[in-house]
Amino acid sequence: MGGGWAMIHYTCDLCGRVISRFEKRYRVLIFVEARPADRDDDDDSPDSSEDWLFDEDEEEVEDDPLNRDFTLDLCGQCANLYVRDPLRVRLPKKP
Ligand SMILES: [Zn+2]
Repeated sequence: MGGGWAMIHYTCDLCGRVISRFEKRYRVLIFVEARPADRDDDDDSPDSSEDWLFDEDEEEVEDDPLNRDFTLDLCGQCANLYVRDPLRVRLPKKP
């Protein structure tokens, strides 16, 4: 342990490689937010004078245990792969 000062460095969250500060890195921000479902009883009044209320609903984030946000730092190589396939979710295979 020499130097006496902490070197700030980033590690690629995909391949684990250290990204030096002279290297460009890519930040990925992922937000998972629950949005309230539409209510059926509102459909009866299409000429609603409460459009402003609707707009507000659009922005509403419901309190939900699945709400989460992720911050990833990727090296150039991994970012290049990531943007081609951002949804790397592996769903269980159907029998
Ligand atoms: Zn990487």
